[in-house]
Amino acid sequence: MSAYPHLLEPLDLGFTTLRNRVLMGSMHTGLEDGRKHFDRAAAYFAERARGEVGLIVTGGFAPNVAGWVKPFAGTLSTSGAAQRHKLITGAVHQEGGKIALQILHAGRYGYHPFIVAPSRIQSPITPFKPWALSERGIERQIRAFVRCAQLAREAGYDGVEVMGSEGYFINEFLSPHSNQRDDAWGGSYANRMRLPVEIVRRIREACGPDFIIIYRISLLDLLPQGQKWDEVMQLAQGVIAAGATILNSGIGWHEARVPTIATSVPRAGFAWVTKKLREGLRAQGLNTPVVATNRINMPEVAEEVLAGGSADMVSMARPFLADPEFVKKAREGRRDEINTCIACNQACLDHTFKNQLASCLVNPRAAHETVLRITPVQTKKKVAVVGAGPAGLAAATTAAERGHAVTLFDAAAEIGGQFNLAKRIPGKEEFHETLRYFAKRIELTGVNLRLNTRVTAEDLKGFDAVLLATGVTPRNPRIPGQDAPEVADKVLGYIDVLRGSKPVGQKVVVVGAGGIGFDVAEFLLEAGHSLTLDPAAWNKHWGVGDPAEVPGGYLPPQPGAPRRQITLLQRKPGKPGGTLGKTTGWIHRAMLKMAKVEMLGSANYERITPEGLFVTWGEKRENGQLIEADTIVLCAGQEPLRELQAPLQALGIQVQLIGGALEAGELDAKRAIRQGTEVAAAL
Ligand code: FAD
Ligand code: NAP
Ligand code: SF4
Repeated sequence: MSAYPHLLEPLDLGFTTLRNRVLMGSMHTGLEDGRKHFDRAAAYFAERARGEVGLIVTGGFAPNVAGWVKPFAGTLSTSGAAQRHKLITGAVHQEGGKIALQILHAGRYGYHPFIVAPSRIQSPITPFKPWALSERGIERQIRAFVRCAQLAREAGYDGVEVMGSEGYFINEFLSPHSNQRDDAWGGSYANRMRLPVEIVRRIREACGPDFIIIYRISLLDLLPQGQKWDEVMQLAQGVIAAGATILNSGIGWHEARVPTIATSVPRAGFAWVTKKLREGLRAQGLNTPVVATNRINMPEVAEEVLAGGSADMVSMARPFLADPEFVKKAREGRRDEINTCIACNQACLDHTFKNQLASCLVNPRAAHETVLRITPVQTKKKVAVVGAGPAGLAAATTAAERGHAVTLFDAAAEIGGQFNLAKRIPGKEEFHETLRYFAKRIELTGVNLRLNTRVTAEDLKGFDAVLLATGVTPRNPRIPGQDAPEVADKVLGYIDVLRGSKPVGQKVVVVGAGGIGFDVAEFLLEAGHSLTLDPAAWNKHWGVGDPAEVPGGYLPPQPGAPRRQITLLQRKPGKPGGTLGKTTGWIHRAMLKMAKVEMLGSANYERITPEGLFVTWGEKRENGQLIEADTIVLCAGQEPLRELQAPLQALGIQVQLIGGALEAGELDAKRAIRQGTEVAAAL
């Protein structure tokens, strides 16, 4: 019997049956925008259908120009566009899959001057002020939704998802935070919920009874004037009566200051609120399937959500960027082969926000299926890969998968390189999964792994190809006084700190405020505890409450007392944290702010003394000041480690550098894994 009986159980919707309980949640990859990527989009969705997803939901398509998320965002409003979509629906159906189109009207969150909303109130996340709709304007938006759904049906979609959460257009009508109308569409809750009910009712009327309508309902707005729980229940009943087939969960408006999908969010951390909805509906005799979402990333997590009665389906989105075969592997008992989404956002959401095509840090083929191909080799080569960090792991396993004979060397006793430090950071526990995945890939692809082996150039004679993935070494900032014997126990590198090999005092100065400086500060503040593994403490910390007790589930954050006094410094002017991820940097900054960490720019590190770090400020080196410290941690960036390159070249052996060994500046695991994969794909 399968380890995941609930996950793999078919779901009968009356007029159609889904093959399992897995919904691939909507994700904007950029392939939806314009016309030029439709063949890539078809290949991308088909690969997920082949991987046995029960029901795929596309990225959001606007029903009209006013609903665009950004200028020229994917739109479905004409028959011509519907024809193009047949490429996608045909490809998915050919693989035995089902697919629904998400209708996303961005409302006042749109990043363009034509945005519309219930009231003329600007959101904090775009520079544009929306136009308040007249009643006729509202009618036009409803008609656009209905037309979009009809066109989706014409294009061969099995249904639509009406995006009613996350603070977009429909959600904006539901809260007085953004709806201050005094006509039939504002004021009382019955008036505020009129829009979603009307949209669902008219889509059902137009598209017939055998068409899936998923309604994404905001269960936790996470805003001060968010919906009360009895209102959420009233809305759920309203959209069900109007014809919704499935209710999907939405958590948090985009402007809410609570992380909802980042790696530091506990796994399945919001399933409890879906359970509340499901129990409420069952108590009313309503059996409409409900979907749990957010930070569900492994089959056992999904199974527990379903077995525990929290939901009838689980939605996973990013996990299908990381591994299109997730469901198939779970069904075949190959859970250890799943490439787990580590919820870093680095190659998906961060790309989207920078107007780049999305992909995945752990799977660079995601949304690039037609351009990054891993094909069997004609001529088998003997390949040496030196360094089993992310770059070397990706290169070695990809080359071996293609049929090369690969030997992977690492001086350390375990694979992973710097990921072995990253996984120790509270809130980065997911990084263990990437190492588990690669360990399994090494076994399956037959890579000859040689740990505890620091190789020399001589050892690499006889290989046809050598890839140097020896990574990075910490940069020495050479601050005057740092090497004096009397501060030997005071000045530590981040490796010593993260490995726990040297004691760290109460008052700490962190030199360098890049990703590692922030991680080190969080590591020292949580001191062995991880909020991510303690959901109750996490909710309290960020201010997530029960929506039955506080509207929108919104509470003021209640962080615990800081465990250390930390000062985080950088030389650049401005507030530290500017180089952190677009969609996650604010979380790290907020964490440190809540722990009263002083974050300062424009520092000149003048000298280290037994008392602490003496600094001056700005170009003029003014206002000299001693920052007292028991410990000073150096997190001053990295330099490439490629000492083998010259001796190898001297022996006439051709080498290719990848990852940190090639270039340490702005290096991250995304680049390391992508480079390793690309180089091996071309070997
Ligand atoms: P490395 O990971 O440095 O691996 C190099 C490997 O080569 C090592 O295992 C080393 O033992 C081996 N080696 C070196 N010389 C030899 C030799 N002569 N013989 C044999 N073996 C040798 N990146 C992100 O993208 N997102 C994050 O959230 C993130 N968080 C991080 C948090 C921390 C605390 C740290 C330290 C790093 C983090 N990173 C993160 C950075 C990421 O880990 C690195 O960018 C990535 O590991 C670089 O990969 P690499 O393979 O080039 O090198
Ligand atoms: P980094 O992001 O490049 O930051 C290095 C820090 O050191 C900067 O604050 C820099 O700022 C400072 N610095 C540089 N040269 C210095 C010198 N000579 N003396 C003193 N300070 C100096 O590098 P990192 O923090 O080591 O991280 C390495 C990589 O890992 C990053 O590129 C990042 O992508 C990745 N990472 C990512 C995450 C994540 O959450 N996404 C987390 C951790 C690591 P000033 O020059 O202004 O002083
Ligand atoms: Fe998940 Fe990170 Fe890949 Fe996005 S980039 S899908 S968050 S692993």
